Amino acid sequence: MPLTSRLKADQTPDQKTGLKNDSQQRNELMNRPFNFSAGPAVLPQAVLERASAEMSDYAGSGMSVMEMSHRGKEFIKIAEEAEADFRELLAIPTNYKVLFLQGGAMLQFSAIPLNLCSDGAEVDYLTTGYWSDRAVTEAKRHCRVSLVASGEADKFTTIPRCSQWQLNDKAAYFHYCANETIHGVEFPDIPDVGAVPLVCDMSSTILSRPVDVSKFGLIYAGAQKNIGPAGLTVVIVRDDLLDRARPNIPYLLNYKILADNASMANTPPTYAWYIAGLVFKWVKEQGGLSAMAKLNQRKSQMLYKAIDESGFYKNPVEHNCRSWMNVPFTAPDERLEKLFLEEAKKAGLLTLAGHRSVGGMRASLYNAMPVEGVTKLTEFMADFARRNR
Ligand code: PMP
Repeated sequence: MPLTSRLKADQTPDQKTGLKNDSQQRNELMNRPFNFSAGPAVLPQAVLERASAEMSDYAGSGMSVMEMSHRGKEFIKIAEEAEADFRELLAIPTNYKVLFLQGGAMLQFSAIPLNLCSDGAEVDYLTTGYWSDRAVTEAKRHCRVSLVASGEADKFTTIPRCSQWQLNDKAAYFHYCANETIHGVEFPDIPDVGAVPLVCDMSSTILSRPVDVSKFGLIYAGAQKNIGPAGLTVVIVRDDLLDRARPNIPYLLNYKILADNASMANTPPTYAWYIAGLVFKWVKEQGGLSAMAKLNQRKSQMLYKAIDESGFYKNPVEHNCRSWMNVPFTAPDERLEKLFLEEAKKAGLLTLAGHRSVGGMRASLYNAMPVEGVTKLTEFMADFARRNR
C-alpha cells in the first residue's frame, strides 16, 4: 500500500478517553504549521499518517511496533525491508555493512577511533564548524589527531581550500563533516584524500542527494534530520575496516559484533527503525535521491535569493559551500531577530531560532520540508523586512 493512501474517517471522538479519532488526527496533520527545526526535524506527513494508522495494530499483528519483540518475524521483516530500501536509495555496494544503532551521532565520535585505529595511532581531522570540532575533541582522547585544516579563522563561513590541507598518507583515517548543521556549510563534492579511509559525519545531509558510497570507508548519521526520529544512528562501514577494533573496545561499540548480529547485539531502537523504514519508502515514492536533490537545491535557492536580495537579511557563508539543508541568517539587530521569531511563530513558521552558540535565525530545509513551507517563509521574510526597515 503506498504511503500516500488515506486514513479511514471516523466521525466522533472517543467519548470515554477523549482521544482524537482518525479523521481529527488527519485534519491536524493536514493543517500543521511548517517546522524548520534542525533536528529532531519535520517528518513527511504521509509517514506520520501511516504510523498513526498502524499505531495500535501493525499489519494485523495485534501489536504496535513499539510493543513487538525485535526478534519476532514482524519486526525482522520491518528491519530487513528498511535496510534494503536504504541500500537501494544510496546504491550501497555489497562490501559495506549498514548498522542501525543507538547512541546518536556523538557516540560515533568515540566509536570511530576505537574501531579504526590503535591507541596512539595518527588520524587526520578537518574542522569546518561546531560538529567536526566536537569530533576532534573526542578523538583526541583516543588517538593522535592531526588537524588537517580549520575554518575557524574565517568563523566557519567557508571550507578551507584543499590545496592548504596538511594530509598525512599514514593516517588511519580522515574525518570530516559533510554538512555543518549550525553554520550552514556543506561540501559541494567528496574530498579526495588518496588511499586513506574517508570517514564522514553525514548527519544533516544524508539522503538529500545521491552520493558515491564507494568513495568512503565509513559514513555515519544521526537519524533525526533526514532519516527519522531521534534515537537511531545509521552507520555504513566498509567490510575491510571491521577487523581493526582495539581489544578493549566496549562490546556495544564494536562494529564487527554489531554487524555480525545484524544490529541486534542488544535491543535496537525498534520504533525509530520502523519510522526510518517508512521514510525510506516515502523517499523512493518521491523519485529517490536525484528527485530529492532537485527539490532541495530549488528550496535552498529560493531562500538564499530571498536573503541576498533583501538588503535586510544576511547569510555569511561563501556561495560555493552554502548548505542546502541548514540556512542560517541574521536580521539587522537582536531586537529585530527576537521580533522576527515571535511573529514567525504566530504565522505558523516554527523553530527558526539559530543554534544557541551563534544566535540569529536558521531554517532547516530537510527532505520533508515542502516547497510551500519555503514559499511561506520567504513571503513572511519579505513582509517583515518591509515593515521593519
Ligand atoms: N553531527 C552533526 C552534523 C549534527 O548536526 C549533530 C546534531 N545536531 C550531531 C553530530 C550530534 O548528533 P546526536 O545529537 O545524534 O549525537
